Amino acid sequence: MRWAARHDADADALLGLVIAHELGHLLLGPAHVDDGVMRAAWKKDELEALRQRRLRFTKSQRERIQQELRARAELVAGPTSK
Ligand SMILES: [Zn+2]
Repeated sequence: MRWAARHDADADALLGLVIAHELGHLLLGPAHVDDGVMRAAWKKDELEALRQRRLRFTKSQRERIQQELRARAELVAGPTSK
């Protein structure tokens, strides 16, 4: 990825970030936020956070993602007899 090389970023880590961001859209919707994985455009601060492995979803986003995954897992599993 030329963008990664131009910004001295690890291409594999950057690809992982892109995948996480797009999965975030699938689970959280189209909105962007001012900080973290779901920021609309990554700049120097985000790339540094990526290098330091501290770029994250927010706590609220993590909770929403977990809820969404649980709901989807229940849909796939179908009704359970308890
Ligand atoms: Zn986006």
